[in-house]
Amino acid sequence: MHLLTLAEMSRGLEKGQFSSLELTQHFLERIARLDTQLNSFITVTPERALAQAQAADALRSQGQATPLTGIPLAQKDIFCTQGVRTSCGSRMLDNFIAPYDAHVVQRCDAAGMVMLGKTNMDEFAMGSSNETSYYGAVHNPWDGSRVPGGSSGGSAAAVAARLAPAATGTDTGGSIRQPAALCGLTGLKPTYGRVSRWGMIAFASSLDQAGPMTRSAEDAALLMNILAGHDRRDSTSIDRDVPDYTATLQNSLTGLRIGLPREFMNNQLDAGIAGLIEQALAELRSQGAVIIDIDLPHVAHSVPAYYVIAPAEASSNLSRFDGVRFGHRCDAPVDLEDLYKRSRGEGFGTEVKRRIMIGTYALSAGYYDAYYLKAQQIRRLIQQDFIQAFSQCDVILGPTSPSLAFPLADRQDDPVAMYLSDIYTIAVNLAGLPGMSLPCGFLQGLPVGMQLIGPYWSEERLLNVAHRYQLACPWHQQMPASFA
Ligand code: GLN
Repeated sequence: MHLLTLAEMSRGLEKGQFSSLELTQHFLERIARLDTQLNSFITVTPERALAQAQAADALRSQGQATPLTGIPLAQKDIFCTQGVRTSCGSRMLDNFIAPYDAHVVQRCDAAGMVMLGKTNMDEFAMGSSNETSYYGAVHNPWDGSRVPGGSSGGSAAAVAARLAPAATGTDTGGSIRQPAALCGLTGLKPTYGRVSRWGMIAFASSLDQAGPMTRSAEDAALLMNILAGHDRRDSTSIDRDVPDYTATLQNSLTGLRIGLPREFMNNQLDAGIAGLIEQALAELRSQGAVIIDIDLPHVAHSVPAYYVIAPAEASSNLSRFDGVRFGHRCDAPVDLEDLYKRSRGEGFGTEVKRRIMIGTYALSAGYYDAYYLKAQQIRRLIQQDFIQAFSQCDVILGPTSPSLAFPLADRQDDPVAMYLSDIYTIAVNLAGLPGMSLPCGFLQGLPVGMQLIGPYWSEERLLNVAHRYQLACPWHQQMPASFA
């Protein structure tokens, strides 16, 4: 049963080949048996899952099921869940039980989906390897000595190992796309404002966006149908019609103009990865697409700009975790200052502290103009580069990650090397555009991802291109042998 895609599961449930309860029990059993090797879940919620599965079976028998009713999924532990711990990968929130469900969780529940549990992640979504989690590193199912990517590393590992049929992730600078690439999944970061951030613990509010992490573009489209939509509780959520993302998957690619950024395809890119991207381009060309060289002259500055803007927003967002309003409280504080200092000192890990310090510095009087304002100006130039590029092409194609899944601990002591894991993904968040990663081959037995970037609100087009590619080149159907 775990080999089925969401679309196949949906048909199986519809035909009565199995019930949601059987499906859910099957995945819970796999998690119990196999997750000791991966550490992909922080919290497993069997009671909630079994109750939701029974409710879904009842809905189906009453003829009230929608396509995803009764299908299990895992939620990244950044989404608030009523009655279930929401840790955000941090000691700070180790004992936090949210009083409400995030919008994303509400949407999945309303569709009759079954939550299996909450997945591991980098602390407050800060990282590219899932090693900053208070709950320990996650192992890549393709090679247990390597990282799954981050920050949505638990979601990626769980889906790649078939411990969950699909999962949610969030992407501030690459955290859906990079782990999707490193684990052989299809991951979509929607246009900023497409999916509500309500109840999603904020890292950098102007960059954060939630999206699906699935095995195929078709599955991502099914999940997008329920995740996307306006929510008045998020002031940056856009009131705009939600299409049926599955309706356009089959569209022809004839005449599609694919932009290839010279800045991505240079000699800094691993030759093996570049070769696989060339092969993917050849396939898309054979389906009628035309390839156009484009320039994104300012993307080289995206990582430095991001590491001013994201920490600045994080330092503000994380100020609420003070041991009074939210979060871990130290034992026996002598006075208020001691309470703040020790609670935050004990609750946050090293990377989070580093970001809070950088952000606070960048925002302080006298430095604001030199750092924060300058970074915002660069951000605007990057956005204009993309707008200019999309006057020449319909989608942009390039790598997702500059390297394969790297060994655990490899970049842990080198923040800059870690930050450079996102050189191809960060510009997309700075510009607020949709981007996705999908598998385009294997090197040394490890999956490689390619990235598609589109204009605002072009999720349908990205999913369409990815689906047509996956019909011809089913790399996404490969799975890690030890989890078969
Ligand atoms: N790796 C990047 C960071 O550490 C992006 C993380 C994310 O997208 N949440 O900030």
